[in-house]
Amino acid sequence: MADDHDHDHDDGQDDDVELDEAEARANVEHELRKRVALSQIRQYGDPALRMRAAEVLAFDDELGRVAERMIAIMHDADGVGLAATQIGVLRRFFVFHDAGEDRVLVNPVITLASKESETDEEGCLSLGPVRVDVERPVGVTIEARDAAGEPVSLELEGLAARVAQHELDHLDGKLVIDRTDPESRREALRQLRPRLLLAG
Ligand code: ZN
Ligand code: ZN
Repeated sequence: MADDHDHDHDDGQDDDVELDEAEARANVEHELRKRVALSQIRQYGDPALRMRAAEVLAFDDELGRVAERMIAIMHDADGVGLAATQIGVLRRFFVFHDAGEDRVLVNPVITLASKESETDEEGCLSLGPVRVDVERPVGVTIEARDAAGEPVSLELEGLAARVAQHELDHLDGKLVIDRTDPESRREALRQLRPRLLLAG
């Protein structure tokens, strides 16, 4: 999932404050890393995004390596979550940011969801500029395994709950545009069409 907290330092009040050279260089490097990361993430139109991922059976070194790579890509892309299907690995696991920690959840299952739900805007690292309103339960309990195969049970609320549900959807080939209202969906598809043409 893309982080939708916009940077708020371009409010026009500090036009005359020039970035020093080091900061400017850091920004350029950040942008380059972000572009490289995004180039490794499957974009809308890629069939991998529409497939249901299979259970992970082997908790081997390969799984750990792929998960580490996904955490690095997620960070570089300024994301807060990334599912294996988004890098073309059709296995049931995702990485996400939870209270300052990077977590890997393998074969995740939602075992409890709050009755109360909330609508908020979501972006996705596979959907470019698209942001749509999605209604989700505010709290969920997720049972999963970590990358080493140890059982994990998480009670998530707020943003972490939203991100985890978004990533779990990816493992079932489901995208935020499937979960929004018809009008937002139409608008999102209008935004995505030129990208499809470019990809084709
Ligand atoms: Zn992190
Ligand atoms: Zn996503």
